[in-house]
Amino acid sequence: MSELEFHQFPYLSDNYGVLVHSPATGETACVDAGDADAAMAALAAKSWNLTHIFVTHHHADHTAGLMDLKRSTNSTVIGPAVESRPIEGLDQRVNDGDSFAFGGVHVQVLHTPGHTLDMMNYYIPSQGVLFAGDTLFTMGCGKLFEGDAETMWESLNKIMRLPGETVVYCSHEYTLENAEFAIKVDPDNEDLKQRIKKAKALRADNQPTVPSTLAEELATNPFLRASDANIKRGLALTDDSDLATFTELRIQRG
Ligand code: ZN
Ligand code: FE
Repeated sequence: MSELEFHQFPYLSDNYGVLVHSPATGETACVDAGDADAAMAALAAKSWNLTHIFVTHHHADHTAGLMDLKRSTNSTVIGPAVESRPIEGLDQRVNDGDSFAFGGVHVQVLHTPGHTLDMMNYYIPSQGVLFAGDTLFTMGCGKLFEGDAETMWESLNKIMRLPGETVVYCSHEYTLENAEFAIKVDPDNEDLKQRIKKAKALRADNQPTVPSTLAEELATNPFLRASDANIKRGLALTDDSDLATFTELRIQRG
């Protein structure tokens, strides 16, 4: 069984890209391609040659550098079979439940619409790693640009069924903003208080708070805690179903 190496790098104002490298096969994938120069610099720093690009969704901060990166590395581009806006340069289109070989392991595709309708997440079971795009953030979740709350709630439930130890790479450093909202709607959550302290210390030191684990998110991310009695009590909704609770949280977050 191949072991993969991961290298996260920042780009634009708050995005993260990740390089995924297989020492066994020499292959390297980049998750999204919002900035070709940043990806090329990260590849050079690691002395890895890009062979694949995994695209999560069509937004420009994930695709603007795609054609440049593809041309300069001759990489194979894997991306959504579901189209909300066309993505130029896709070689292989994948959908929910698909799996493909990369670097000596299998990559599973989860369709997680809500932020966009074309959102695909990439899960590598043998490494316990998920690339969540703009679906699940540390202590937050993606804004609903194309899907409704019910669609997003179903997508998050797909992620919630993965093992708790799954390492979650999301695409943005939104943690402290998310934390401010999380503590408002879940003020008595001790795990959340501890996590916010740690996140503040990391950011004060200019360190990333990404990746996290799914278990941490389940304990502290209000959008995964719509079934929590304390959060429900705080919102005091007449319909306090999990979906209605999630919907209200998403509205209040703005
Ligand atoms: Zn996006
Ligand atoms: Fe984004």
